[in-house]
Amino acid sequence: MTINPLNWLLGLFSLDIGIDLGTANTLVHVRGKGIVLNEPSWVAIEKRTKRPLYIGAEAKEMVGRTPANVLALRPLRSFNVYHLFAHMTRVRDAVEIQGIGKAHEQSVAPVPRPRVVIGIPSGATEVERRAVFDATMAAGARETFLIEEPTAAALGANLPIGEIGGSMIVDIGGGTTEVAIYSLGGIVVSRSLRVAGDEMDQEIIAYIRNKYNLLIGERMAERAKLALGSAFPIKDERTMTLRGRNLVSGLPEAIEVSSIEIREAISGTVKVIIETLRDAINETPPEIISDLMEVGICLPGGGSQLRGLEKRVSDELNMRVWVADDPMTCVARGAGLILDNLEVNRRHLVTTARTPA
Ligand code: ADP
Ligand code: MG
Repeated sequence: MTINPLNWLLGLFSLDIGIDLGTANTLVHVRGKGIVLNEPSWVAIEKRTKRPLYIGAEAKEMVGRTPANVLALRPLRSFNVYHLFAHMTRVRDAVEIQGIGKAHEQSVAPVPRPRVVIGIPSGATEVERRAVFDATMAAGARETFLIEEPTAAALGANLPIGEIGGSMIVDIGGGTTEVAIYSLGGIVVSRSLRVAGDEMDQEIIAYIRNKYNLLIGERMAERAKLALGSAFPIKDERTMTLRGRNLVSGLPEAIEVSSIEIREAISGTVKVIIETLRDAINETPPEIISDLMEVGICLPGGGSQLRGLEKRVSDELNMRVWVADDPMTCVARGAGLILDNLEVNRRHLVTTARTPA
């Protein structure tokens, strides 16, 4: 295969990147390539030099095992600008390692750096927005645009948010649940709830501790949620083995739990999420409600894949509900779409003091 050098250069000129900085997972979408990075939102840095060492699964692996000079952290928890910068630097390197956007270092002409669109939680404060913006610019972006996650998710899920008539998106992630109701391209009602998939894991830990005096780790709890979790009675109720430390004897112990117990354990979180949706719908003007009833509620995000959640939300709210196609990549794909037509899509972007409208 011969590469036309001109096309190759033009390709670099138009390097457009969409990023989902999720509380649980970070995804990168590159125009023409699709999703090129999908890693847990963790970064490991060297304490003394603050040098970023690992991103994603490799950094997460280090939790609890880190040597004294290495810090493994979740930059989307703290929104600390140095941690975000370390994270974005490793994101950039990971993209470059795949041969995307790297070659320009050898080229004669200075090739512009990428334009980046980043999804941020709609509940993010001005300070948090600026931290993300600054970290991205510092990591080498030519231009950075911010978009609210539910809007990016809606675009990625192909919801017709720009049209007359309402649509509703509920993005259940790790740390946050984002709810937005749209009409005519704008958000009419929104909620950003700091309760989502991680909270379910915590509820499982508490439930197992209270019922069995067994202390299990977060990863074991998440595994139980993925294997057994549900929001509605399921046909084939199952069991699995959980391992942890007995709090009375202090010794390792294994117990058998059922999907019925795990459903009970996470029922509080499911309830809080549904009450938030009910609240948002209550606040919605009646004309938009009637549109919503026709379109229904779209669920992107990893947590939306909880078994039976669709049915439960549909039953409780009396609306049509569906899980988005490929729900965990909606935000990154939606953010990537923005730059296809920046002039039209500019209205979907959010500004900070750093990005005059
Ligand atoms: P964020 O946008 O906050 O990074 P994601 O959309 O990546 O979050 O979703 C991560 C969350 O989804 C985690 O809490 C994970 O446990 C949960 N999750 C992923 N798959 C499933 C599933 N099949 N059932 C229930 N929860 C799931
Ligand atoms: Mg998300």
